[in-house]
Amino acid sequence: MNAPLLALHEVSRHYHTQAGVVRALDRVSLDIAPGETLGLVGESGCGKSTVARVAMRLTDVDEGEVRLDGEDIATAHGRALQAGRPRVQMVFQDPAGSLNPRATIGQTLEAPLIVHRRGNAGDRQSRVANMLRGVRLHPDMASRHPHELSGGQRQRVDIARALMLDPALIVCDEAVSALDVSVRAQVLNLLLDLRETLGIAYLFISHDLAVVRHMSDRIAVMYLGQVVELGPRDAVWHHTLHPYTRALMAAAPSARPANRRLPRVVMEGELPSPLDPPSGCRFHTRCAQATYLCRSSEPALRLHGADHWVRCHLA
Ligand code: SF4
Repeated sequence: MNAPLLALHEVSRHYHTQAGVVRALDRVSLDIAPGETLGLVGESGCGKSTVARVAMRLTDVDEGEVRLDGEDIATAHGRALQAGRPRVQMVFQDPAGSLNPRATIGQTLEAPLIVHRRGNAGDRQSRVANMLRGVRLHPDMASRHPHELSGGQRQRVDIARALMLDPALIVCDEAVSALDVSVRAQVLNLLLDLRETLGIAYLFISHDLAVVRHMSDRIAVMYLGQVVELGPRDAVWHHTLHPYTRALMAAAPSARPANRRLPRVVMEGELPSPLDPPSGCRFHTRCAQATYLCRSSEPALRLHGADHWVRCHLA
């Protein structure tokens, strides 16, 4: 694999609340190569969005390293931090909420260029028009306001905004979950085409395994602030090693239930609180295969084969 574009090494992020310490991330290691798509899946509250915030440097980390192009961004401040910001951009789940309702689409797209002092007014106008074409919208859209656009059009504008500064990585945090199924397919295909033409990498976060499989080169599965399985898409999909990944896959809706590859695996109970994660393996309270060892000893993330990692005593 190429040298990583983004690398998280043993990253922990804990939030101190009145109820106690929330262990949002606990020793998470991940990397993304240039032009690669890493899919990140798991239930709500597993830490996926905290990984996104760490990648965007929207939150500090308590321990560990976050490197972008080899530079440590976890400790960067001031100019060094500002210089790295354009390299990583984000597409949001709710474009209606993330676009300024009072600004025109043109003003919204031009804003990052103004902040980062790119080009003169004419250059910026032409880049706005080109970017609208790039996401398959008419340049006339620049004069409209967000409320005049459909949900799919607003999401294309959000993608265009993320592209304005020529990022190397786009973090897509549940970027298509709010869209209708037909529009969702169009936006996913647009993201794939942009990756092909521009060579961008994606950190693609979703609770929807089918979408993650469609988009990703590799898949990482998170549970209660830890990565429990990580590997190439087909290895994770066809040679699943972790009981939690198996349960997620079995629970995913299938267009052809009769062809379901895996027997339905029912997970016991709810996701435990990250305020007080279970001892040993964090999944043991819901795992049908749990043994005494699982309750008392935390499994390490171990390599199986060339590039398939799993955190399970029985794998
Ligand atoms: Fe289940 Fe034990 Fe593996 Fe955890 S370590 S996933 S409890 S079998």
